Amino acid sequence: MFRTVKVQLGGDTSPLLTTAQMYASACQIALNYGFEHRTYNKNDLNTGTYQVTRKKMPQLPSGLVQTARDQASEMLKREQCKRLPLKKPSQIRYDKRTFKFCPESGYVSLSTVKGRLDFKVKIYDYIKQYLKGIYTNAQLTVRKKGKMFLNIQCEIPDVLPSASNSGGDGGSSSDRVRVLGIDRGILNIVACDDNTFVNSKHLRDVKGRYQYMKARLQSLGTRSVKRKLRRTAGRERRFTLNTNHVIAKGLVQKPYDIFAVEALEISRRKVDNGRKFNRLLGSWSYSQLLKILKYKAENLGKIVVEVNPRHTSQRCSKCGHIDKRNRKGLRFKCRQCGFELNADLNAARNIGQLGKSEMTRLSTIVNKPNVSPTYATQADTSPHPSGAGS
Ligand SMILES: [Zn+2]
Repeated sequence: MFRTVKVQLGGDTSPLLTTAQMYASACQIALNYGFEHRTYNKNDLNTGTYQVTRKKMPQLPSGLVQTARDQASEMLKREQCKRLPLKKPSQIRYDKRTFKFCPESGYVSLSTVKGRLDFKVKIYDYIKQYLKGIYTNAQLTVRKKGKMFLNIQCEIPDVLPSASNSGGDGGSSSDRVRVLGIDRGILNIVACDDNTFVNSKHLRDVKGRYQYMKARLQSLGTRSVKRKLRRTAGRERRFTLNTNHVIAKGLVQKPYDIFAVEALEISRRKVDNGRKFNRLLGSWSYSQLLKILKYKAENLGKIVVEVNPRHTSQRCSKCGHIDKRNRKGLRFKCRQCGFELNADLNAARNIGQLGKSEMTRLSTIVNKPNVSPTYATQADTSPHPSGAGS
């Protein structure tokens, strides 16, 4: 899997500023050529511009001339050569020929107009989990006041699922894989089929406060108010992001291997809780929560499956009977078997069941040619033939 690591460059970064300007000029030469000759083919751009660029800017390392040309090709392709793109001097693309990152050393080495230079970087704690990664490429960004950041792409080996899904026979594997069904809601941000909830009371309070403040400020409309609005928006965004991190962390740490959630695009389930509620939490960033959940799950070798959200709130999780009238507000009562449960919990159980059957379907496809390694070791160790396995 790929992860992006972001570091800020320290020390004297002025050579990079010049490099960024030359890189942009080199890119622009290729852009102009491609636009004029109606081509975004990399070979065409190379034969048309490489020598010219090298002669014009001998200080710019040839590796950067090449990445600038590749970037020009992609920019032209995006525009289909119909419009001439302009390259700003605020970014450089690096690849394995032009940069090297050793997290242990705390330095990154970059090709510049003054040759290869080392820049000090601060290694944050979260980067330490990616130390074994292969750093393939990076992007330098020049921010306001000359601050420089490097986004480094890192390839790390996939964590293998911790679940005991090595069993060869497809039928019983579904019993061993632990699936958690998760429902998203209004009163409960999430409800899980292990009978746990994340209540949205606090969220609604905070969101409501922001909404109230925004409405009041907007009616004033002065310049200082606009500044304050921007600050508030940033604060609200960070609150949302942080809350989603906390929720996702709580979920992935549960002893489950697979997390079943409703597929996002289709599921805009209407919940009749009044307009005020919907305004407060209707805009809650579920897609962000899902993204963070997937990311955190992947780090632990766990999986998020998305299931079809159809009927999950109307179906009885006990007998499977589907009826719109089964659900009454917060309660669920099956009109066929009389089963009663909290409505969100019932939906979470349905989602969990769907997730389980989806995984069984997938594992019978994936696991069929798999020879279980546990049988081999069992034959070798004679003293404890059955005790070790179970
Ligand atoms: Zn029922």
